[in-house]
Amino acid sequence: MAPTQQKDYYGTLGVKKTATADDIRKAFRKLARKYHPDVNPGDKKAEEKFKEISEANDVLSDDKKRKVFDQLGFYSDNIDPAAAGAYTRGGGGFGGGQGRGGRGSPVDFGGFDFSGFTQDGGSRASESGAGFGSSFKDIFGNMFNGGGRQARGPQPGTDLEYQVQVDFWTAVRGGVTRLDIQRQEQCSTCRGTGAVGKPMECPECHGAGKVTQTAGRMKFDTQCPRCGGAGKVQAACLTCDGEGVVTRREPLEFRIKAGTRDGQRIRLAGKGNAGTEGAASGDLFLIIKVGPHKLFRRTGDDIHVTVPVTAMEAALGARIEVPTIDGEGSHAGRAQLKIPPGTQTGQKLRMREKGVPNAAHEGTRGDQIVEVVIVVPKVQDERSKEILRELQKLNPEDPREGMLAEA
Ligand SMILES: [Zn+2]
Ligand SMILES: [Zn+2]
Repeated sequence: MAPTQQKDYYGTLGVKKTATADDIRKAFRKLARKYHPDVNPGDKKAEEKFKEISEANDVLSDDKKRKVFDQLGFYSDNIDPAAAGAYTRGGGGFGGGQGRGGRGSPVDFGGFDFSGFTQDGGSRASESGAGFGSSFKDIFGNMFNGGGRQARGPQPGTDLEYQVQVDFWTAVRGGVTRLDIQRQEQCSTCRGTGAVGKPMECPECHGAGKVTQTAGRMKFDTQCPRCGGAGKVQAACLTCDGEGVVTRREPLEFRIKAGTRDGQRIRLAGKGNAGTEGAASGDLFLIIKVGPHKLFRRTGDDIHVTVPVTAMEAALGARIEVPTIDGEGSHAGRAQLKIPPGTQTGQKLRMREKGVPNAAHEGTRGDQIVEVVIVVPKVQDERSKEILRELQKLNPEDPREGMLAEA
């Protein structure tokens, strides 16, 4: 049985450990020319040798892979370079360093025994060209990528976001809106700790915080998955299944300010999901969707409304009544508007400060913009037709004159 299958890629290519990328490339090319299967048809030894140098080149010509190889003495695609660095810095142990919310529970490599990694694994590897036997690779993948339970601790609550439908009038005038939200609350049984009762010695590791695992002929210590390395366990709270939080449906009532706009985000601090073990709650964000109105269109704080006028009102000028948003409840109000003589269809008349109150600046309002549409009289009787013919004779202007000249 061979000892640890640590490959000597530098030796395979015949370069020093300090070789530059250029040195490596040159060395590989030289050897590749010599051992390439096309040059040595049917030569099993040359083929084997070519595989070896290809593998060595694959790792050493890649900065990241080379770094892992330099640190560990072997390379696998499953090894994260950062984890390899942590391994080296930690003097052979993976303890600590990765923190909560990182790649998983710390793995202690202190008791790692390489003796089970045999020549057998190595030859299988060179067949696949992958560098290592699959079982070895799998084990390393698991170790470096974590798995197993993370130690608990205070976790801040996450933010929540809800879309809220608000009708046109509530957004314009303000009001109270109700919404059912689903949020995580701190569990009252365990006060957010997820555990109840007194801490007891962990039955899995008997208080050691570590367990020894074997995979084939390898033995290594890992953090105890049951207690997360603490050596002690507490019974999980049955109310929250040990989560520290419970999900509840909660009716929520909140004020909509007058002038709230479509798409506006309202933040209710601390109304998001509860944190565990006393950590802060997240925030609740409400995204306002303002409903439409059959008459009024809103852009920002301005109100747009289309108003029909007769041809006579437009020609002679008039004082007309138009709807405004200044009414009661879900009713529109009314206001007087002066139509200047000679008003054309499509013309826009501005009614200052008849728009929506600004939610941010109290006392300021937008405008109401009235678009005039001229309604032509449908004359039936002879007398009216006569008057219109006479009117036409008195005003022989051609409205298409300029247009035709231009075209
Ligand atoms: Zn609980
Ligand atoms: Zn334990």
